Amino acid sequence: MYQALYRKFRPQRFEDVRGQDAIVTTLKNQIKSERIGHAYLFCGTRGTGKTTLAKLFAKAVNCENIREGDPCGECETCKQIAAGNSVNVIEMDAASNNGVDTIRQIVEEVSYSPSTGKYKVYIIDEAHMISSQAFNALLKTLEEPPSYVIFILATTEANRIPITILSRCQRYDFRRISQREIVGRMRELAEIEKLDIEDGAYDFIAKCADGSMRDALSLLDECVSFYFGETLTYEKALKVLGAVDTGVFSEFFRHVNSSDTFAALKLIDDVVMEGRELGVFISDFIWYLRNILLLSVSPEDTEMIDVSPEAMVRLREEAGTTDPDRIMRYIRIMSELSQRLRFAPDKRVLTEIAVIRLCKPHTEADILSLSQRVAMLEKQLESGVVPAAPSAAMGTDKNGGLAGKTSDGKFAVKHVSAREWKEKLEPALPEDIKKLISRWNDVLNGLEPLVRAAIRMARPSINKGRLYIIAEDNEKYKLIKDGNGGEYEEALRNTINEVCGKEVDFVLTVEQGESYDTNLPKFEDIIKFDNVETID
Ligand SMILES: [Zn+2]
Repeated sequence: MYQALYRKFRPQRFEDVRGQDAIVTTLKNQIKSERIGHAYLFCGTRGTGKTTLAKLFAKAVNCENIREGDPCGECETCKQIAAGNSVNVIEMDAASNNGVDTIRQIVEEVSYSPSTGKYKVYIIDEAHMISSQAFNALLKTLEEPPSYVIFILATTEANRIPITILSRCQRYDFRRISQREIVGRMRELAEIEKLDIEDGAYDFIAKCADGSMRDALSLLDECVSFYFGETLTYEKALKVLGAVDTGVFSEFFRHVNSSDTFAALKLIDDVVMEGRELGVFISDFIWYLRNILLLSVSPEDTEMIDVSPEAMVRLREEAGTTDPDRIMRYIRIMSELSQRLRFAPDKRVLTEIAVIRLCKPHTEADILSLSQRVAMLEKQLESGVVPAAPSAAMGTDKNGGLAGKTSDGKFAVKHVSAREWKEKLEPALPEDIKKLISRWNDVLNGLEPLVRAAIRMARPSINKGRLYIIAEDNEKYKLIKDGNGGEYEEALRNTINEVCGKEVDFVLTVEQGESYDTNLPKFEDIIKFDNVETID
């Protein structure tokens, strides 16, 4: 019969408590020198050893046979406490007993000295749950406690303990236990239990436990009992703990890296549909990118990359298809997203925007404007125009750009559309346009919100090798056509060409409706309906 590690190996001596060396030393010294306090506050995140240490301390102060500050574990008192039968050690959970009556009862009990043993130890877990009235009832006892009474308050939220109580306690802050210490402890126990566990599994479990020894041991328990008698590998641990298999990150990375916006967004959709937390997914993906980055910088150094051999093969492949600059750009975008997600009500939209930024570098305004400026200067040089040297009148503008005002107050650098400087694309064939229409979502995703809303309502159509975009009404037609000084149409054109990979000849038109403006080109006039292949 397999017995849970966490119960079986509850520390019986102070040295078995890991990761809290300073606290352990102080408490042990108090016991050795018999300078024991009457009120302790143990604070820190869950599973860091607060109640374990509280019980150990309760044992140590009562043990008949103390050895170098450690309880013997063999005397009657030690045995009783270990079995939970001691009248001198009272454990209570404030989460369920937080009322003033419980505390009054304790206060009353406290006046009777212990019939056996030296100290009555009250261990109050989740102490922040005690009501303020109940805290008040406790205050007097904490101020003048009988010499034989020790209170140990344990809490994960010290900020919720009243200051009047705090000021009467010796406070100990329990830190998160490092991954190394957790792995070390797991190894010791596995050796005693003769469990066969691979390094990768240890590291993975310790990472999941996030600083909590209790969590680490119960996770290890789960894995070991699932694969009892077998070697516990990294892959098996992943399976048991239902952790995200890195395969999904590999897939996501490949979509992003090949600028397949649609597939990348689809994957995010799946992640949401599976009920996964986006924030967790993104931070795990950052870690995945970090591994690719390390490999792409230094392919032979795998020491800092903690994955299964199979995952390593994939990572290597991926690192080979990219370069560090690009990965760093991905990490930057994902880290920004990760920070914003914490407070964002609509995590999904933010995530989708970031995915588009990942897939389409040109949608990043800063880079776009910069490359436009650079390209424009190149064009000027090519055509023999020497750009004016920066001067007071023609220098960097407020925004750090190269535009400047001329004497007549006009901007010397006019807007140069991306189309003017982009290399000439091949003209799109009818098949290309059909394909483009089937990927219309990619076009939508590449547009800024306002234009996207207008284009979403419009209908793409093809006739005689030309793309027609039929706006829903005059208003939307005008918005697309003239919005932002004509830039919206230009942006639409660029996005369409980008998605298609070719120069697409398109006509923007409008459906005839009630609000039809007779000055606008009429869809019906441009093409004959029987030739139109419409796409819904
Ligand atoms: Zn003992």
